[in-house]
This record gives sequence, C-alpha cells and structure tokens, in this order.
Amino acid sequence: MSFSNLVGQDKLRLILARLLNDNRLSHAVLLTGPAGCGKKSWGEALACSLLCSEPVQGEACGYCLSCRQFAGGNHPEYYVMEPDKQRIKIEQVRVMRSGFHLLGGRKVCLIKQAESMTAEASSSLLKVLEDPPVGLYFILLAEQPQQLFETILSRCQRYNLQPLSRVEMKALLADKKGLRGDKASMLARLSRGIPGYAFELAEDQEFDRRREEAENLALSLLAGEDSAYHLLDQAASMAEREDLLSFLDLLCYSFRDGLIMKLCRNEQLLIDPARPSLGEGTATVKELEEIIYLISQTIYELTATNVNRRLLLEKTLILAQRGLIQCRK
Ligand SMILES: [Zn+2]
Repeated sequence: MSFSNLVGQDKLRLILARLLNDNRLSHAVLLTGPAGCGKKSWGEALACSLLCSEPVQGEACGYCLSCRQFAGGNHPEYYVMEPDKQRIKIEQVRVMRSGFHLLGGRKVCLIKQAESMTAEASSSLLKVLEDPPVGLYFILLAEQPQQLFETILSRCQRYNLQPLSRVEMKALLADKKGLRGDKASMLARLSRGIPGYAFELAEDQEFDRRREEAENLALSLLAGEDSAYHLLDQAASMAEREDLLSFLDLLCYSFRDGLIMKLCRNEQLLIDPARPSLGEGTATVKELEEIIYLISQTIYELTATNVNRRLLLEKTLILAQRGLIQCRK
C-alpha cells in the first residue's frame, strides 16, 4: 500500500516520500480535510511506508513481510484508534500506550477522527507527544482540526488534503467503480473532488431517478406554468425528502448545465442531448445565474442554519419561478 497507488494529492505524495526517504518525518503527522477526502487511505499508506522494511524512495515496497502483514490487516506494530461511541476515551489511549513496548524498530498509531478525543484522552496523548519514544509515530486524521488541543496541533506536521481535479476523479471512478463516460463526468463534477462522496453517489441506486426528477423540476420552473398552489405542494413534498440536499445539488447542476450550454457549446453536459434542454430554452444567462445562486443559497441555509425546511423551499420555488417570469416580461 503505497502513495503511488493513490489518485491525486501530487504535492503531498512528493513531500511525504521525500520526508520518509530523508528520515525527516515528524513523529506526529496530522492529515486534515472533509469527510471522504481520502485521509484514511493516505494515513494507511503513510503507516505502511513507515513500517516497510525495504522502502523504495520512501514508499512502501508492497512485497516485504511488513507490507504483506499490513495489507493482511495483522501488522503487529500498527495500532488503530477510533471513536468508541463518538469519543476517543482516555482508556483507549492507555491501552494504546501500554501496547507499545519499544524494542527497536518502528511502531505506528493511526488515530481516526482525532478531534473526538476527550480532554483526558488528549492530555494523555500529549504526554507521549511531548516526549516521544524513538521509533513511535502517530498519524492523526481530523475533519475539524481546530477542535484539537493547540498543544497537540503544535507538535504535528500538518497536511491538508486537496479536492481531486475532475480528471483525477474520473480516473478514480474508472479504477474503483468501473465507471466511464457521461456518468463518470457527471459524478466527477457533483462530488466536488471528494472521493468518498463520488463513491457514495456511484453506489446510490436512486441516483438516476433523482437526476430525472431534478431535471423535470428545472424544466417546469423554467416553463413558469405552475400555479402557486402547485409550487407550495411541491415544496411540501420536497421538504419530506431524505435526499433533499442531493436533489437540490442536482437541480442546481441542471441549471448550471443550461448556463454552460448557453455560454459555450463544447463542454460535456449533464443533460442528455435527447432530453429537452434548459440551455435551449428562453431563459437568459442572467436568469440562470440568479436561479443557481438562489438554489446554492438554499443549500447553504439548509446545512448551516436551523431553518424550517418547508418554508424555505416554498420561498425558493416561488422566487425561482417568479424571477424567471418577471425577467422575461
Ligand atoms: Zn515493504
């Protein structure tokens, strides 16, 4: 399990390989980034490389006994700590500490969701980080690093994982999910560079149906023929959707494709050419821009505030349709 097998993060790959090769890697490394961005894969590849007995330019060879034990999930010098009922507790840190009897060689502890450590667990870990035994390495993974003790942060070499480019994401989807063509392009765009989210969408059996529903709603809003009563009814049923955010994402992307089609005709589009297209309708660039902003704002309010979903969706649908009609007058 080496970095070379992982897609994207070219800068991080170079930095880590160089530090490993020069034996300059800190005894504590913190990998940060949103859920699904690949922290675990990179943390494991780093651990495997640290433990490998015959690394190739810093990276795990993949063939030595250590690498085979690591791949088999039974490496004796590798310890994983993760939340037990949402928190990492002091007992877990104690068990981890007592498990490392350093008799030469390297040992690695991977800490998932490090920010979930209780204050006691953090203090206990800090004691080890302040006076690290030679050969013991910690790899901390965190979505919210600001929740970690400042004293822990200051002792870590910190790297933030970057979103994958569309090209990288398409390569990953082809490799891991066998997806190519339009579907891969669409998921690469919708996933915003987060591999975990792209995989989730790829495995979602309802995705195609949801996509069609979002397109239909976009077309009906543009047509502007729905009565206010119908829009309120639609908002009420949307508010009940468990997949509301994903649905709004697709709605937003449907309009975005219409916009792209108006602005440039050679980009690969989300919308099937055989279907009625938003880009060929009467909506102007300005109208499409405004509606994309409106939906993005709705997604933001749904995720960042405690807003009443139904009222917010009523406002969004009515404003969307009314805005489009008024612009046309
Ligand atoms: Zn090896």
